[in-house]
Amino acid sequence: KASVMDGDEFDDDGQPSEVLDSKAKTALEKLQDDRKTLPIYTYRDQLLEAVENHQVLVIVGETGSGKTTQIPQYLHEAGYTKRGKIGCTQPRRVAAMSVAARVSQEMGVKLGHEVGYSIRFEDCTSEKTVLKYMTDGMLLREFLGEPDLASYSVVMVDEAHERTLSTDILFGLVKDIARFRPDLKLLISSATLDAEKFSDYFDSAPIFKIPGRRYPVEIHYTKAPEADYLDAAIVTALQIHVTQPPGDILVFLTGQEEIETAEEILKHRTRGLGTKIAELIICPIYANLPTELQAKIFEATPDGARKVVLATNIAETSLTIDGIKYVIDPGFCKMKSYNPRTGMESLLVTPISKASAMQRAGRSGRTGPGKCFRLYTAYNYYNDLDDNTVPEVQRTNLANVVLTLKSLGIHDLLHFDFMDPPPSEALLKALELLFALSALNKVGELTKVGRRMAEFPLDPMLSKMIVASDKYKCSDEVISIAAMLSIGNSIFYRPKDKQVHADNARLNFHTGNVGDHIALLKVYNSWKETNFSTQWCYENYIQVRSMKRARDIRDQLEGLLERVEIELVSNLSDYETIKKAITSGFFPHSAKLQKNGSYRTVKHPQTVHIHPSSGLSQVLPRWVIYHELVLTTKEYMRQVTELKPEWLVEIAPHYYQLKDVEDSMSKKMPRGEGRAQQD
Ligand code: ADP
Ligand code: MG
Repeated sequence: KASVMDGDEFDDDGQPSEVLDSKAKTALEKLQDDRKTLPIYTYRDQLLEAVENHQVLVIVGETGSGKTTQIPQYLHEAGYTKRGKIGCTQPRRVAAMSVAARVSQEMGVKLGHEVGYSIRFEDCTSEKTVLKYMTDGMLLREFLGEPDLASYSVVMVDEAHERTLSTDILFGLVKDIARFRPDLKLLISSATLDAEKFSDYFDSAPIFKIPGRRYPVEIHYTKAPEADYLDAAIVTALQIHVTQPPGDILVFLTGQEEIETAEEILKHRTRGLGTKIAELIICPIYANLPTELQAKIFEATPDGARKVVLATNIAETSLTIDGIKYVIDPGFCKMKSYNPRTGMESLLVTPISKASAMQRAGRSGRTGPGKCFRLYTAYNYYNDLDDNTVPEVQRTNLANVVLTLKSLGIHDLLHFDFMDPPPSEALLKALELLFALSALNKVGELTKVGRRMAEFPLDPMLSKMIVASDKYKCSDEVISIAAMLSIGNSIFYRPKDKQVHADNARLNFHTGNVGDHIALLKVYNSWKETNFSTQWCYENYIQVRSMKRARDIRDQLEGLLERVEIELVSNLSDYETIKKAITSGFFPHSAKLQKNGSYRTVKHPQTVHIHPSSGLSQVLPRWVIYHELVLTTKEYMRQVTELKPEWLVEIAPHYYQLKDVEDSMSKKMPRGEGRAQQD
């Protein structure tokens, strides 16, 4: 279970769960001393005074100055938690968990008691929790149950400069409730950028600046563009290691896969360096890194060794790792982009902005002079990089947010108080999709289906698939599929030296060309039959950790089914009904086979391909439905299931007409025979 709310973890006498043995006490004292060395400590009283005197305060301070870990504690110490919780939002899951863990240590309490965190599918809080760290998306969802956030005395929207979609929506919502809740304190905190803009938006709220300590950072550029930035980053890290004075290295990479590759290569190459060279400790950090390993990046580097942290953007401002002296910045990050015309969303490796590059460089100068190695040219920096990153609200699919806002009773979305409005095309597209999914009626009001869908913390198409499973009497199977899809692509394990074995194991679940969705269901059910055996996972090249997470998510979805009064019914004998339920949510994602083996999406025609990891990549059914598109070397459909075209008109007659699905069949044969050929 992800929750720590199990009753037996509570102290019976209701006393704060402080760590009392003497050794721990000294550690606690040390942590208290450390708190006093943070730049923010000098401003503690002034800050408290400013909060007392103003309802809304914009706080700006260099990363690592202590905003996230200290401000909620100061407010707690000053008594704000007597009136309600202090909520502090983070754009990233890992940051919410890691910071909550740190603050609970500093306060000497058990994580999940006075200090807790809440992220999607994982609630580590309890009745006692007064300092609650959470993702911005979770606070957004809390509005659904508590529209005035009555249980909070303070809301701190942290890392506001990140401008994630949820943060931007939160701005509008908290600004609104602050008007009729004068007792609610609102803190908007950010790492130096855009403070004026935040202040303007919040009716000229005062700006509180925390001067950081910053040492000079020497910036180095490459003379010519790098063809392979990953390799260049590895080479640079090794060069620093063998030639530069002590100090840890931070490398910014774009994602888990890249980080794992870099880790492997670095391990391999350092082995060849011999014993004269100091030890290089490699620490990866990314969103899906297991919690046990996350703590490792904060461990002090032993004397004589050097640490190299391989991080995603998470280390840009969300997490501060002490001791970094060298930063390697290849100049890229993974970014979502969205085409509102076609409704296609993709995650692309994109050049970062100047603002990001500056933040990254700054990470090396926190505790002493630092060096930043940019793996691009000075010309690139000055001429090619944008000044700032475009806020997410302007480059993403808005369907989920629109559904949430509609459930909150906010109807006029075109006039929602956006700090930067999304393209109206994207809003319309979201409304269109929600209408197609029957979540909204013709005049844009939430329907009963929409209300049920909004209960699920999932993308609308997934929620719709679950709601539809009621009709098809297969909710049991469909929530398993939804849980497995939510894990992403980390179910199957494919070690380099055993790829053939791994692929064979995977094919076992695809017998009968059942499609990727049913294959995921089979994986889940087979694991369940073995009583959730770890050994079984090993034997089948399946990541046990991902499976456990899928099980947690599934448990929670099961609980939500009850909330929306959908009975848990199993119907394993008939894959067709399960596929129809999937189609009910994903009918906009249909595609038809072309003569050359590629596919064309039915609405908004675009050429796409079945991803090589799909069980159907060699089968090439005539009609398919897909979960998502990913753009790598080509535009690929990931998680694909065969479809009968008549389902589209049966399930979504308002979206597909007969002509959309008939032409290819009727060319070859008279109408009516197409069906037989499909089987
Ligand atoms: P800011 O929010 O202003 O960027 P933080 O409050 O996150 O600053 O960080 C203050 C200090 O706390 C930093 O020195 C950082 O290294 C330390 N810190 C934060 N989280 C952890 C953690 N999980 N483990 C160890 N140290 C941490
Ligand atoms: Mg912070």
